[in-house]
Parts: sequence; C-alpha cells; structure tokens
Amino acid sequence: MASSKAHHATGFAAGVIAAAVVARIGGGSHGGAFYVGVLMSFVAGVGGSTAPDWLEVAWWSGSRRLWIAHRTLTHWGIGWIALLAVSYRELGHSVYAAPAFGFGCGGLMHLLADWPNPLGVPWIARRHSLNLWNSGHCDLIVVAASWAAAWFVGRHMGLPDIHGLDLLQQLRL
Ligand SMILES: [Zn+2]
Repeated sequence: MASSKAHHATGFAAGVIAAAVVARIGGGSHGGAFYVGVLMSFVAGVGGSTAPDWLEVAWWSGSRRLWIAHRTLTHWGIGWIALLAVSYRELGHSVYAAPAFGFGCGGLMHLLADWPNPLGVPWIARRHSLNLWNSGHCDLIVVAASWAAAWFVGRHMGLPDIHGLDLLQQLRL
C-alpha cells in the first residue's frame, strides 16, 4: 500500500471531492439536512480512503490477522465503482446516499493511491500495477495528484461562488 499518511492525505482530498459533488448534485434547498449530507459525505470520504486496508483486518476478533488475502476483495475496483455509481444516482433521494457516495470516493481514491506500486490493484479480475514505484515512495506525487483532482472538481462544481451567493441572497431575504 501507499503509506497510511498518504492514504490519509488523499482521503481528505476524496472527502472534499465527495462533499463538492454532494453539495452540487444532492443539493436543492433542503436546509439543515443538506449540510448534514455534505458533512457526512466528507467524513465518509476520509474514512473510506483507508477502508480497503482496515476492511481486510479481522479487527472485530481482537486479532490483527487478515481474514482475506491482502489487496483482493476489499481492493476490488468494480465493487467500489459500483458503490459510487449507485450512491451517485441516489443523491438527493436517499439520506444514505451522501455518506455512501463519500465512502465510495474514499475507497476509489485508496485504490488509485495503491495502483502505482508493484503489488497493484485488482480493478476487474487480475491485479494490475502501474509499476511506477515502491510503497511509501513518491507519496508526494500521489497526494499532489489527489489535491489537484479535488481542486479541479471543486472548481468544476463552482462551489464557493454558488454557496457564497446563496448565503448572501438568504441574508437579504
Ligand atoms: Zn491498500
């Protein structure tokens, strides 16, 4: 895996991305619930970014053994993408969609962070690796890329403008 520091740093970026998307798409004017959804998607995004690794540890049994092989099912690309797709469609319809979407964003970000190192990630069936560097190396590139993505999504969603204006309008009315 990429180092856990890198996973956390990219996780915050995933949280920002999820929150930006939820704010834009799951939005409308639902008042308090709207902001709770945005916040939950952010928190779930941060949590989801380390999920593929802690999901494979049998933490509930008290031992730290893995209950499945490292980087198999919990790192399955299709599973995370499916979660993302389904929850995205439910945004604005179900209260569970926002945290599920955030969790999916985080998980996918984790897979992307794991991808360049030699063990690779099982996106579809077999593991695939970009084979660029070993774990822990070049974390900065991974983290920078994730924040570049967050910046791009944030801008694309036009978030600060829209919310600034919304708030101003509400204050005037
Ligand atoms: Zn991992």
